This record gives sequence, structure tokens and C-alpha cells, in this order.
Amino acid sequence: MYKYDPSSSKAEEFINHEEILETLAYADANKDNIALIDEIIEKAKLRKGLTHREASVLLACSDEEKNQEIYALAEQIKKDFYGNRIVMFAPLYLSNYCINGCVYCPYHLKNKHIARKKLTQEEIRREVIALQDMGHKRLALETGEDPVNNPIEYVLESIDTIYGIKHKNGAIRRVNVNIAATTVENYKKLKDAGIGTYILFQETYHKESYEKLHPTGPKHDYAYHTEAMDRAQLGGIDDVGLGVLFGLEMYRYEFAGLLMHAEHLEAVFGVGPHTISVPRIKHADDIDPDAFDNGIDDDIFAKLVACIRIAVPYTGMIISTRESKKCRERVLHLGISQISGGSRTSVGGYAEPEPEEENSAQFDVSDNRTLDEVVRWLMELGYIPSFCTACYREGRTGDRFMSLCKSGQIQNCCHPNALMTLKEYLLDYASPATRAIGDELIVKELQNIPKEHVREIVVKNLAEIEKGNRDFRF
Ligand code: SF4
Ligand code: SF4
Repeated sequence: MYKYDPSSSKAEEFINHEEILETLAYADANKDNIALIDEIIEKAKLRKGLTHREASVLLACSDEEKNQEIYALAEQIKKDFYGNRIVMFAPLYLSNYCINGCVYCPYHLKNKHIARKKLTQEEIRREVIALQDMGHKRLALETGEDPVNNPIEYVLESIDTIYGIKHKNGAIRRVNVNIAATTVENYKKLKDAGIGTYILFQETYHKESYEKLHPTGPKHDYAYHTEAMDRAQLGGIDDVGLGVLFGLEMYRYEFAGLLMHAEHLEAVFGVGPHTISVPRIKHADDIDPDAFDNGIDDDIFAKLVACIRIAVPYTGMIISTRESKKCRERVLHLGISQISGGSRTSVGGYAEPEPEEENSAQFDVSDNRTLDEVVRWLMELGYIPSFCTACYREGRTGDRFMSLCKSGQIQNCCHPNALMTLKEYLLDYASPATRAIGDELIVKELQNIPKEHVREIVVKNLAEIEKGNRDFRF
């Protein structure tokens, strides 16, 4: 039996099965313990986060009144750390060749009827120009695991291509990367290529289920996969993004595992995860989500988002177009800080829509609106869509970023950057209706910049953007 140790480098010790079972039993035993729940809520109000045990009690809490307090606190923490900004991004699938056997993903090796595709550098150029023409500045690169078709050299060359494309006023300024667990040496190469965040979903923290869900291929190795973020850190990547695929295992087990992973990174590297993603399993070619027993409904999903927000206030939270407009609207205010818009989950598909008979998508998109529609919708809801990519370009990564984030000082950068990048978007890509709402919003939000000299700089920069200059940032 493994012993629980958040500082261990061994997967089974920092994500410890017995510790999770004890946590779940503790949460069950205390789900109606109002005195303890109150105590945990009071601690959460300090905005320094909660342990996996404390947060698991809140997740299990069945008292309606206390649950309303939990939602209200999540909303307040979201406001305090992120204001009303939502950062925009889009996924770009480079290749769906994959040698793994993940039973929940249509790219698994045995799926012979899905169209297999890999973008050439020329195709990447066309896709990126299409993404730039939509207004995107931040991408998440996705590939299957296949050392022959998608070796690290291919990923590095693609990153180089993407950063090199300057089309009209467009530019991709931050490339986040979501590729299979790899070696320290390869993580170093990704760092040198100038990536933003390295994202890798754990899928499930439950080792036995993990091994069943990944019956073949290198991903079958639970420890190698679970320890990937440690290797990424050793390779110099200090912004890493976690996530599980909700629906594979019991959500309360995953929640405790996710927080233990965050605690582990904090204990060993002094910096928790940069982001947490909350995907739920969805329909796709060859995949029926109903075949998995642990699907969660929208109410539980909202509670999960709220409890993650309270437990790790300083970690960005991402929601994709797997979720519908209605569901996204419900959880935005509870803690989401980044969303995708206008996404294609096929390999290619931005420059030209993929012919129906050639479906290469990883999952069905539930929110099919254009980026312009998503941006307008956000503003109508009172949010500021932000195309900011400033931090890693200013060297604010890892613990430097986290200390600014934890002290709340990062707001002094995020808010003005959101207004300036939104202005670029409005001038270069927005429809007239979106532009009208956006211009009004910027005037209003300028008043919410507390420091006068910062406001003056922003006003000056906005005038420069009107004249055609671009890429101002704090
Ligand atoms: S989840 Fe990733 S590794 Fe698994 S089959 Fe899909 S692309 Fe391959
Ligand atoms: S300033 Fe940094 S943290 Fe804030 S939105 Fe921009 S990149 Fe994100």
C-alpha cells in the first residue's frame, strides 16, 4: 500500500487512493455538519484556498441554505480575482493520428472509420490566418499521440509557423499546448519554442479505472501520465494546466484527486496549476456518452465549478464549446475565467468547413456560435471579453505570476489589457452591432481603472489603436 505524501514524486503517493477514500468518507460523514461547514466557509472567505478534504465537505454538503452561501462565495471570489473579464481562446487540432486506445475518445487507434488527418505547415498557415481573421490571439494546440506522425519536431515546427504568421493586423500571441505526456527533454524544447501553458488532462485520477479506460498504448501507464506535470516543471514549464474528463469516474473522487494534484505542485514547485479545465464527456464518432456510468448533470456541474473556484481561487478555470450556451451562461459567474469561441474540434475546419463525410472531430460542439456572437453575448451579460496574452510575454509566469495573482495585483494588468485588446478586436473583426456595444462598454469600464495614471496611459493607447497601432500591454 502507498502512503499519502503530497511532496512525493510518485503518482500513487501524491494522488493517494486511500487518502481519497478517507476524504470521501469524511465528506459523507460531515455533509450535514453545519458547524464544520460554516467553519470551512469562513476559512474560504480568506481567499487562500482550501484543502482537498475541506473542499470535499463543501462539495458533499446537502444543506440548501449552505449551498447558496457556497455559490455566493464562489461568485464573490470570481469577482475579486477576475473581475468581469473572460479571456478568449480557440483550439487548433493539428493531427488526430493516435496510437492510444482511450475508450472515450474517437481518435483511439482502433477507430477505423474516422477520417485521419494531419495538417501540413501550409494548411496550418491557412487555418491560422482564418483564426486571426476571426480575431483570435490565443490558441490551444491539440494532437493525438503518435511518435511517427506527430513527433515533437512536428509540434515545434508548427508552433514556429504559427508565431510567424502576421496577416493584416492579426497575430497569435500565445500558443498553449495540449499534447501527450512526454520527457523532460521534450518539455524543455516546448519551453524554448515559447509556449504559454502546457495542458494535460488527467482524464481520471482513479488508477484502476484509468488503466481500464486506457487499455493500450503509452498512455496506459498511469504513473507516467500523472507525473507529467512534474517533468514539465523540471523542463522549465512553470505554467501547467490540469483537468479531468468528468463522467468517467465518480465526480467526487475526481474532485479530490484534482485538488491533491494542485497541492502536490504547490508543495514541490511552490506554484499550483495555472489553469483547471472542466470538460464533460460528450458524444463523438464511435463514442456514446451514455455508455459511461458517471455522467453529471448541470446542477452538479455548477457545484463543481463553484467548489473549484473556492478551493483554488488563484487558478484560471476553462470551459470549452463542449458545453452549450445555456450551461456556459450558468457557470461563467461561478468561476470560469477563460472560454473558447467559434471553435472547430476537427483537424482543420477553420479555413474551410470540413465535408460531412470526412468527420475528424474529437467531440461534438454544443455551442456553435461564431466568435463575434460569443463576444457580443458576453458583453450583453456584463462581461469584458479579453484577448490579452500579456503575462508570459512579460515574463510573468510560474511563481512570479502566482504571487501577483494571490495578492490581487494582477488585476492592475488584466483590466486595462482586456480593454485594449477588446478595442483591437472591435476595430479589426467585430460586426457593427458588436462594435457599438463594445465601444460603450470600454468607455464605462475605463472608469473602473482605479489608478489615474494607468487610466491616462490606457486612454492614450486606445487612441493609438484607433490610429492603427497594435499590441499595447501592461
Ligand atoms: S484522448 Fe488523446 S491520447 Fe487518447 S485517443 Fe484521444 S487523442 Fe489519443
Ligand atoms: S494580464 Fe496576464 S493574467 Fe491578466 S488576462 Fe492578461 S495574460 Fe491573463
